[in-house]
Amino acid sequence: MSNAYEKLALYIDGEFCEGEGRVEQAVLDPATGQTIGKLPHASRADLDRALAAAQRAFTTWRHVSPTERGALLRKVGQLSRDRSQEIGRNITLDQGKPLAEAVGEVLRCADHCDWHAEEGRRIYGRVIPPRLPNVRQFVLREPIGVCAAFTPWNFPFNQAIRKIAAAIAAGCTIILKGPEDSPSAVVAIARLFHEAGLPPGVLNVVWGVPHEVSEYLIASPIVRKVSFTGSVPVGKQLAALAGSHMKRITMELGGHSPVIVCADAEVERAATMLSAFKFTNAGQVCVSPTRFYIEEPAYDRFMAKFIELTRGIKVGAGLESSTKMGPLAHERRVTAMSEFVEDARTRGARVEAGGERIGNSGNFFSPTVLTAAPDDSKIMQMEPFGPIASCVPFKDLDNVIQRANSLPYGLSSYAFTSNTRNALRIQNGVEAGMVNINHFGQALPEAPFGGVKDSGIGSEGGTETFDGYLVTKFVTQMD
Ligand code: NAD
Repeated sequence: MSNAYEKLALYIDGEFCEGEGRVEQAVLDPATGQTIGKLPHASRADLDRALAAAQRAFTTWRHVSPTERGALLRKVGQLSRDRSQEIGRNITLDQGKPLAEAVGEVLRCADHCDWHAEEGRRIYGRVIPPRLPNVRQFVLREPIGVCAAFTPWNFPFNQAIRKIAAAIAAGCTIILKGPEDSPSAVVAIARLFHEAGLPPGVLNVVWGVPHEVSEYLIASPIVRKVSFTGSVPVGKQLAALAGSHMKRITMELGGHSPVIVCADAEVERAATMLSAFKFTNAGQVCVSPTRFYIEEPAYDRFMAKFIELTRGIKVGAGLESSTKMGPLAHERRVTAMSEFVEDARTRGARVEAGGERIGNSGNFFSPTVLTAAPDDSKIMQMEPFGPIASCVPFKDLDNVIQRANSLPYGLSSYAFTSNTRNALRIQNGVEAGMVNINHFGQALPEAPFGGVKDSGIGSEGGTETFDGYLVTKFVTQMD
């Protein structure tokens, strides 16, 4: 296994292109602030080459059999498993998460490759009974064409592989702009597909100033579909732009996940599970639990355990084996966290754990628990996308379900209860793309992942995974 950081590059028409006179951007280690690599930006000519390559490759890739496409994806899955340590180490270096989390992310993606490889063989059309005896009528589902995808830095391997696997298994070709702050994972993905024998142009990886690249690609008549994972404001901009060019979209946007802990739940178990889950990836997770509503009789018990566990989380560089939570991915997230805490404090909230930056170098922020933050505070309204949990008591389940639904977000949600009637009220009442009751079970390749309301449009994973990558063609034929 090599200890050198990934050689950063563009990947266009089957070739890796490094600096070679292009604008380059420094990539920093969030644990130290040191430069660890230089990322080349795509020029207009590079973007045009990527568009042309993806367009050309589509004419043949769309006709490659699903079995053959699946075999290639399975090969990539196996290569990801074989290289998970090396790729994971580089993710830790440029994104900050603990090594075990980074390696786990790569291994879970191998599962995404395998699942899409299989499911791609089940992209069925249908036969519609005709009105005349000499007519046959069919519905065909065909790949939409060239896709433009934009993926973020929090799960840099996972967010990219989900889009690539779905596009490629469906017979589409794809140009992907990954996260410039944490680029190694996407370059590694391009290397795996290259090594597995993907034909040139089916996958292209570009980098640059995000809005310049997305505006150029989305406006191109070659691109037929736009897929984005990131914040709600950027998602709305890209969706509007795609709409103005009448392009299909899949939007995986932010969340502000509510957690409802009923008094009849196994309260200590819930606190233990939630403390571990909340601070995974330093809370930089779109489905991270954020608003914790605890039923009054269980409030003190829950809080005692949750605060104790949160205070005990070891924060440090992701490559240190004792680290449970790494630095935030970049400096601007540290500033954002301080602003959330300050706003809550001035509105009367209490800081029960953490609440501040740690040290002067690296982007470390302590795991933070707030109580008594009012509903109009920033933390109760806006996605923190970081290690802050805000906890308040509740009295009435129907009322708390209304509060859970009161924000424009609708991505994930969590509840703990041992009463099946309460579980039913929660799963029926909460407006969210995903509801997890008594455990965390989302984000599996075989299950749909996506949000409602401002949290997005469309799903990734599950049998829904191909919906955004296929067009419907009705064929009617008379003998
Ligand atoms: P940001 O909104 O500037 O960027 C988020 C991601 O979108 C980055 O990867 C960025 O490169 C990309 N991006 C930004 N503008 C773009 C554009 N015009 N075209 C294409 N891509 C664009 O915010 P940030 O400071 O990097 O991250 C913080 C916010 O991002 C969080 O508040 C969170 O809501 C959101 N985010 C969400 C997810 C998710 O999984 N849904 C992941 C990462 C970040």
